[in-house]
Amino acid sequence: MKITRVDPFQVEWSDDPQRSVRSAFIRIETDEGVVGMGEASPMEGGLASLVIVARHMAPFLIGKDPLDHAVLLEKLLHKCIKLGPEGAVSGALAGLDIALWDIKGRMFGQPVHKLLGGAWRTDMPFYASIGNNGGRTVDEVLRVVEARVTKEKATAVKIRWDGDRTRQDVDIAGDIAKARAVRKLLGDGFTIAFDANNGYSVGGAIRVGRVLEELDYAWFEEPVQHYHLKAMGEVAQRLDITVSAGEQTYTLQGLKDLIEAGVRMVQPDIVKMGGITGLMQCAAIAHAHGVELVPHQTQPSIGHLANLHLLSTVMHLSKPVELADGWGRIAPVFPRNPSQPTDGRFAVPTAPGLGIEYDEAELERRRRPLTL
Ligand code: CA
Repeated sequence: MKITRVDPFQVEWSDDPQRSVRSAFIRIETDEGVVGMGEASPMEGGLASLVIVARHMAPFLIGKDPLDHAVLLEKLLHKCIKLGPEGAVSGALAGLDIALWDIKGRMFGQPVHKLLGGAWRTDMPFYASIGNNGGRTVDEVLRVVEARVTKEKATAVKIRWDGDRTRQDVDIAGDIAKARAVRKLLGDGFTIAFDANNGYSVGGAIRVGRVLEELDYAWFEEPVQHYHLKAMGEVAQRLDITVSAGEQTYTLQGLKDLIEAGVRMVQPDIVKMGGITGLMQCAAIAHAHGVELVPHQTQPSIGHLANLHLLSTVMHLSKPVELADGWGRIAPVFPRNPSQPTDGRFAVPTAPGLGIEYDEAELERRRRPLTL
């Protein structure tokens, strides 16, 4: 089998031209008619990753055997490494990797998780990941949280701050008030996590973290800037609550550094680093260190399915799967929306490859060409 075409493109989910929301998809075709779909990180619409695929990676892949994907992608990483091995390049490689795993599964008529060594579970609970709470009042936070929990039958919640990353410790008292109110709303025993989105200094993080311990929050995510690796480790070591980080880690070496700094729950993202192959390597590193692997994942279609396959294969899966805001937007292209939970859970897909089903005509209508 040979790769005959690599087609990177954006998909526009919004019908309002003023509020563009785009995903970065990659379609790979082969001479035997088997087609795979992948997804790259959607940061700034994923345009940078898609251009890297189109200009610097696709020509190399034409004529190659998709089953050699790990060798091919490692060669491409080292070809493009001086573009910066983090961010746009690793997102591009992640998208290609996911598409090539989809091809492999379809070729063998097996779901991806079977090719990864088999699943430990047939379905998984999820948590509702609820963003933009930094700019809301306490009452607004409670209304949004209640609506998501009711609509999705979520049994766990993460409240994200999504603040201005150029400022720290903006409103610690207000943040604590919101954390207390959400605990009171959901009651004792409900799993709640707190995502600071890199909003605190070390001192600020310790203050907030102590309250989260008292409120029995399940984890405290990215309390300080991700690039302050030692500071992240210091906060993790000083607090009793589990401190997590890693959604902005793009290399295996970076993951190792994070663990060595003291972080005991890591969150690499399947569309940002390595795709399925990369996350399997992350799972091995986490397992070797006795560290929890709880991937970050915000994309509701291809990224979500790839993440479900991967997580089903992880023995010590300790936390629910992430379900971020706005997953309903993909419904026109995915009539059986893979992000629609059933009784608070997601079934692990059993169809060949990733198990993607989509409306070709609607996807075509929403496709946007790569233009500068
Ligand atoms: Ca986060």
